[in-house]
Parts: sequence; C-alpha cells; structure tokens
Amino acid sequence: MSSALWLREAFCPLLSSAVTLLDSMSALGDLGWEAYPAEGWEEITVMDEKNTPMRTYQVCNVMEASQNNWLRTGHIARQGARRVYVEMKFTLRDCNSLPGVPGTCKETFNLYYHESDNGGLRHVRESQYTKIDTIAADESFTQTDVGDRVMKLNTEVRDIGGLTMRGFYLAFQDVGACIALVSVRVFFKRCPHAAHNLALFPDTVTGGDSALVEVRGSCVGDAQELEPPRMFCGADGGWLVPIGRCVCKPGFEEREGRCQPCRSGFYKASSLDALCSKCPPHSHSPQERAAECPCLEGFHRAETDPRSMACTRPPSAPESLVSTVNETSVALEWTAPQDSGGRSDVTYNVHCSWCPGSGGACLPCGGIAGGPHFLPRQLELTSPRVLVTDLLPRTNYTFSVEALNGISDLSPGPRRMVSVNVTTRQKVSVVLKERRSRDSVTLAWQEPDRALGTVLDYEVVYYEKNQREQNYTVLKTRSNIMTVDGLKPGTAYVFRVRARTDGGYGVYGGEIELETSHEDVLAIGDPGQTSVLAMSVAGGVVLFVLLVTCFIVSGRHCGYIKAKQDPEEDKMHCQPGGGQIPGSRTYIHPHTYEDPNQAVRDFAQEIEVSSIRIERVIGAGEFGEVCSGRLRLPSRREICVAIKSLKAGYSEQQRRDFLGEASIMGQFDHPNIIRLEGVVTKCKPVMIITEFMENGSLDTFLKKHDGQFTIIQLLGMLRGIAAGMKYLSEMNYVHRDLAARNILVNGNLVCKVSDFGLSRVLEDDPEAAYTTRGGKIPIRWTAPEAIAYRKFTSASDVWSYGIVMWEVVSYGERPYWEMSNQDVIKAIDEGYRLPAPMDCPLVLHQLMLHCWEKGRSERPKFCQIVSTLEQLIRSPGSLKQLANSTIWQDPSLTDLGTSTVDEWLDSIKMGQYKEHFSSSGYITLDSVLSMDTSELGNMGVTLAGHQKKILTSIQSLQSEQEPQVHV
Ligand code: AMP
Repeated sequence: MSSALWLREAFCPLLSSAVTLLDSMSALGDLGWEAYPAEGWEEITVMDEKNTPMRTYQVCNVMEASQNNWLRTGHIARQGARRVYVEMKFTLRDCNSLPGVPGTCKETFNLYYHESDNGGLRHVRESQYTKIDTIAADESFTQTDVGDRVMKLNTEVRDIGGLTMRGFYLAFQDVGACIALVSVRVFFKRCPHAAHNLALFPDTVTGGDSALVEVRGSCVGDAQELEPPRMFCGADGGWLVPIGRCVCKPGFEEREGRCQPCRSGFYKASSLDALCSKCPPHSHSPQERAAECPCLEGFHRAETDPRSMACTRPPSAPESLVSTVNETSVALEWTAPQDSGGRSDVTYNVHCSWCPGSGGACLPCGGIAGGPHFLPRQLELTSPRVLVTDLLPRTNYTFSVEALNGISDLSPGPRRMVSVNVTTRQKVSVVLKERRSRDSVTLAWQEPDRALGTVLDYEVVYYEKNQREQNYTVLKTRSNIMTVDGLKPGTAYVFRVRARTDGGYGVYGGEIELETSHEDVLAIGDPGQTSVLAMSVAGGVVLFVLLVTCFIVSGRHCGYIKAKQDPEEDKMHCQPGGGQIPGSRTYIHPHTYEDPNQAVRDFAQEIEVSSIRIERVIGAGEFGEVCSGRLRLPSRREICVAIKSLKAGYSEQQRRDFLGEASIMGQFDHPNIIRLEGVVTKCKPVMIITEFMENGSLDTFLKKHDGQFTIIQLLGMLRGIAAGMKYLSEMNYVHRDLAARNILVNGNLVCKVSDFGLSRVLEDDPEAAYTTRGGKIPIRWTAPEAIAYRKFTSASDVWSYGIVMWEVVSYGERPYWEMSNQDVIKAIDEGYRLPAPMDCPLVLHQLMLHCWEKGRSERPKFCQIVSTLEQLIRSPGSLKQLANSTIWQDPSLTDLGTSTVDEWLDSIKMGQYKEHFSSSGYITLDSVLSMDTSELGNMGVTLAGHQKKILTSIQSLQSEQEPQVHV
C-alpha cells in the first residue's frame, strides 16, 4: 500500500508526549515511602545548586555485611498506561574510594515492582516483588557537589510493560552499597492528538508491549472518507504509517488543513477534485458551497454531461428539407441546423403523418398497416437523410424533421421542425406463376387493377443467366400468361416483366431466375407454385418486379405428395365462390418428403458459414441458443440476422425437426412472416438464419412498453399479424400456436409471425399443456374444437388470433389471468369470453368475440379481419366508443383483498412505483383513494398508460365493486 509509508521523520508535529505519574522532586513534604529495616534507607533533605530543598533517600551501611535494605514508594496509579518508564537519578560511592571497607561493599542496587489494584500494602514482603533490573552507576554522568564531596550523578531509565492492574509499587533494594537516590520520576508515553490528511486522531496511550496501537481517524468537518483513515501509535509515542485519507465533500475545498466552502461563482462537483473551479459558461452558483452550477434559464445539462461542461440548449430547426418521391418511397434530405445548441450530439427525428381523404384530419403514420419503413431508421438519425418506403400509394403525406440534441428532452419549449408535403404514386401487387419443363417456362401474372389504367401489353425480357445481359430476347403478349419455349435444358434463365399502358412503359423492377429441367418432368409442382411479385405503376403504369422467390421442386429427387388439405379449409378464403385463390401456392409439409433433407435443399438456401458473423446470444430456443449477428452474401449488402443453432449431441430426429422449421419458413414470402435467409447444414453447428427482429417477441415487448402506444399503432401491429396469417391460411398452413410470444417485432414495429417448428406445439411451447387425449396444447390460445378433438384449422388459428388481439390491447396481460387451464376450458364451454381490456374500443372487442364464436364456421376469415382492421385504421372515429366505459374487469384491478399500498401496487403490476408512493407520503390504502392524475404526475408516474391503470384501480377501490365477468 503506497500510503503505508514509514514516516517517523515526517511527523515533527506529531511528537510524543509524556505523562508523569510520580516525580519525587516535586514533592513538597515527606515522600512517605516505606523503608525496611528502619536502620536501612533514610529520608533526608539536601539543597541543590539553586538552594532548593530536594527530598532524597540514602543508605550507606558499607561497613557491615549482609545488608538487605528495602525502600518502597507509595501506590502509583497507572492511569490507563500499559507501559511505564522509571527514571532514577542517584549517586553511588565507589567502594575503592572508601577507606577500610570490607569486601562486602557493593556498587549496585536492585529495582523491583509489584502490581496492585489498591494502595493498602503495608509491609514490604520480598516475595511479592518482581525484579526489574540491577542498577549500576552509569559511565556518563555530570558532576555535582553534594555537601563537601564530589559525587557522580547517574541517570538510569527502566521500563515496565504489560501492566494490567490499577497501579503498582516500586521498590529499591540495597545489598550493601553507599547510595543517594536523588530523584525518581515515573511516566508513560502517548501519541498526542494529531491531524493528518483531513482526519483527526485522538491522544492515544502507547501499547503495553512493543506492538503498535492502530487508531482510526475521523474526518474533519465537511470532509468524507475516501479510504478509512488510520495511523499507528508507536511504543515510543510517535505516530507511524498513515493509511487512507479524507477528502473535502463536493462544494468544499481544502484550505489550511480544513474543508472550506467554494465561493459563489465557483463549484466543486466531486470530492475527488482538489479545488473549487469557476462555473462553466451559461451556468452560475449564486450561493457558496455549490457542488454544481445550475444552468441559466434556457440552457440545460444532460444527465451524462460532465458538470464541468458548459450548459447547452436545443438546436435550431434543420434546414432546406428536400424530398424525392419514387412511387411509394420518398427520399428526404436536409441540412444541419445553424445552431447546434453548443453540442456535438445532434440527431434527427422524422415525423410522418398522412391525410387519408380530402379535407380529413391527418393521422400519424405509425398506425398504417405494415408501413412505412424508414431507412436507416426513423428516430435518432445521425446523418441528415432518410429513405421512407412502403408508403400507401396515391396518398398525401407530411414529413417533418426535427433536430435534437442531448438536452432536447429537458427543454420545455416547442420543438422546431421543418416540414414537406409529398404525394406518393400508385403501386399494385401481382402474383407471378411459373411452370418449367425441359425446354420451356410458363410465366403468368395477375393483371394490375384496371382502375390504374388499361394495360396495352406486357413485355417479357429474358436471357441466359451466365451470359449476363449481352444476349437477351424480348417477347410481347397481351395476355397475362406466356410460355417461353426453345430454351436449353438444365439452364438458368433470368426473366423480367414490365407493362405498357396508355402512359407508356413502366420500368423493370426485380427479376425472377428459373432453371429448365435436365429431363422431362413427370410430376412437376402444382401450377399454383408461384412466386410473388410486386408490380408498381408510377404515374401512368410502371411495372415493378420487386420480389421474386424461386420455388423449384425437382421431380427426380422428390417423390413428394402434397400436404393433405382439409376440404373445409377452402371456406377460409375470401374469393367469391370459395376455393383457393387462383395462382396461390400450397404449403408442403416437410414430412411428406421421403428424404427430409431434400425439403431443406428445396426450400432453404445453403449459406457459407464464412458469410456469417455471430455477435451475441439473444435467446434460447428449443434446440439451442439464438444469437444475433450479421450476414454478408456475395453482392448483397450486409444485414442483421438471427441465428438459431442446433446444440451438439443431437439425434437425427432432432436435426430433422430443427431443419423442418427452415423447410417450412423457406416456403413463405410475406412481409409479416419471419423471413428465412438460409441454413448452414454442411458444417457444424447446423444453423438457421432468419431476418433479425430488433424488438424481440411481442409479449415481452408489449409488457415493456405498457400503455405507450396509440390505439392506431396497436391496430397497425394487429393488422400486420392478420396479414401474415391471411397469407399462411391462403397457403393452407395452419399455425396451431399463434400467440403474442410467437410474434416477433422489428425496429419499425412491424410484427411478423414466427415459430414454425415441427415439434413446436407438442414440446416447445411452455404454455402447452397435456390434454386428456394426449398431446400438448396451449390451452388459453386454442379453440375448443382443437382442444377437444384436435380439429386444428385456419378457423382455430382465427380463435388464437382473437386471443392475440386481447394480448396486444392489454399490453401483454396473461389471457384469463391466473385461472387454471381446467377452469378456462370449463368457462369457455359455458360461454364465458374474455372481457374487453382497459380502454379497448368496442369494435375491437366485438371483433375478438367474433373470433371466439363456438361454431368455427361462424368465425371471420383472416382476409375479413385484415380488411376490417384496415377500415378501422382509416376511420379512427369508429374507435372512440370504448367497450368498458364503466369499470374494468381485470380481477387484479379490483382486488380488494390487498391491505397495503405495496400489496395493492403489486397486485396491479405497478410494483415499480412503490417507492414513489411511499416517499410521497401515501402509506395507507385510504390515502390513495383521493389521488388524481396531477398527483401521480408529481410523484413521477408520468406514463399515461400507467396513470390510467392506477386511477382505474383506484376507482375500483372506491366503488368497492365486485369483479365483473361477461358471461
Ligand atoms: P424461438 O426458438 O424461435 O422461440 O426463439 C427464442 C427467442 O429468441 C425468441 O423468444 C426471441 O426472443 C429470440 N428470437 C428468435 N428469433 C429471433 C429473430 N429473428 N430476431 C430477434 N430475436 C429472435
């Protein structure tokens, strides 16, 4: 320890001090010491050189043998000392200087002591005494005259350690010498009161033996311990080895060994700073002892700003906002604000509102189904540009850009923005179908909406993939189907399509890549095996081939049979007359493959492991960890991905099940279905790579943001999930485990359906419980017919969707709260349905109840749900009427069984505010009954959703109403 220096010399001011217990020289009268025998020591008075009388004891029986003369002091109180010192001044006659003395003459005497708690000792008894030393004359002495003789005055000091009783006696034994005991002084040493490193150390008696005494110091006023201050009191009364120190508190600095307040205009933020500093610009400290200088009006300091930094203010508005519209995308660029507010952390937020009809009120874009998307993001942009995609076609938008810096949230003033109005252009989606043979490919696509203009013809351009675009062929057709023949067998071609209308040609968008077969295919895939294209028509008509995924099943390897479909499922589709949508694809269950590995090869792209960079673990899946990371494929930009890996030691069955999810996911291509990027199967661990969803699973996300979204935003999420489910139901895929926990949310609040595991419903889902018929089912989310006799259909998915709606509107509340699974089954059978969550629009609860119709054919189809939600989003007025205009039905919110404020807050899941309530004086339940919004705000409950939840529960407490349940 560096501070533990041996600083004996450094402590001049810390010199030891001695406390005298006995001094024979200062006695005015008789010393009254006990002499035995009487003819031994005798007390006499002599004059010193200043003619002051001195009491001395003498003995000089040198002429007689066998002397044993004792002289004992009075009782000397120890006064807490454990080691005392005895200083004796005496003269001793040299036997040779005495004429005619016998050989028994001595030139020494003995010093003894005897410990005793009281002073009642009468007689000298030799056996009681402990010898300290034999004392002889010293070499070094001064000369003094005593009477007419020249005497040598000796000084000897001896110490006695380890004293424990209240006091002690000293005894001097003469055995035949000629001695005059001129003075006896008894004292002990102590380390005197000291101050060091802003710590005070009290007077301290030295230790009884040679050990040091450790002393803890206390900080001087307005100082605090940096490291506990300690010193050691040495046996000789000196302070040693200072350790630790005190420092002046914030607002104080060290001057003259004390902590003195910073003067006005100065501050000291940390006790570790030595001195007060001048207030930084735009701040002041009108009073002394400031630990920081508050900002002047209009200026602020962020939580993370160092106190030494100048106070800053919000930036001015960004400038020169320019928009460039490309169909349904808009690129926005602007220049930095003139005044950054004195900070370098300026970022930008982009706000978007859309104006549905002429003259109607504009709405925030957040609620628009599936979009818009902001690249790189909407908030906290560091560069002055953003690309906004997936806007609604032919719609007026207003974009406002605000500049913020680290203190914008602290500034109460209105945000300064720059705005621009834009109008998007039309965009339509078409479905492209393809069929391949040895030398031909048939392409088909859906006509764009006629309302967008009449299509005169289509142009199909294709070329051999490995010849790039040097040698291409252009074909024209008026029909929306075309067979391109004369192609080479086993060769990959690239096709592009564009439409021509009265307005001229559109531009080519994305492209589709197809490979002809090596040999004739006997049973090629259903003509319904298609790829989804998005065509966009800008201004007149521009055909955009946006997204193309190939779906090629080789007849040689596969021998698959199409997944068996439930004939009743046809009813799920909204096509007039029922039946599957022409051109839509059917999902193929991987189990229908003889070789499941072939399903993986057919539906999932193999990815080189070197293209993947794993960054961190984000979750745990059934088969192993889920990590986030990056994927860089040749000639594609790097993207964030989620990586699921198959843990070591798996069985072949587990490998198949694990990759089964990829085989399923790979068949889907929809913005509300989690996208498969590919798989790694050629090396270990086996991995599934999907797009990365920044906000994780929906249930956790909603709980984290309880009450923070507008109903339009919640509807936007629900619309996305319904759109994903519509797509799945059109593919004849029944999910069976639709629940908020199986929905993932990305950074733009887009919700995507996930969890397509093969064994999922049986094993993976913690919510799944065994039913009486065996097999595991997530009871709370599952339709009664699926629980009772395993009738899983898209209609049972619709039931689950209703539960997801309820989860979303209640911000992740557990359906049926803590009711047992058995009670849930019973209640549903008796007609009980979940009541509307707090603040739920009536129409939404009605839609939920519709999804929970007992008869599955009575339930809405996903396509109807999507269009209902889109209608609601477009006419927010219809959401105004709330389902629960009286009291909310969540039993926990009306739980009168709670008796303390803490219990009550826990029961409504607002336990995080316990301290807010107690520190604001709300100790009893009675006291909270009269609370209102402003009091909640004052105590720091600022989230509107949380305020509502608490106030609603207070209302319930007030009315002491029993919980209501809709039956
Ligand atoms: P799963 O095995 O699919 O249930 O995934 C386990 C957990 O990993 C989920 O609950 C998510 O928190 C996380 N996770 C899975 N896939 C993704 C993804 N694509 N993006 C972000 N997080 C994910």
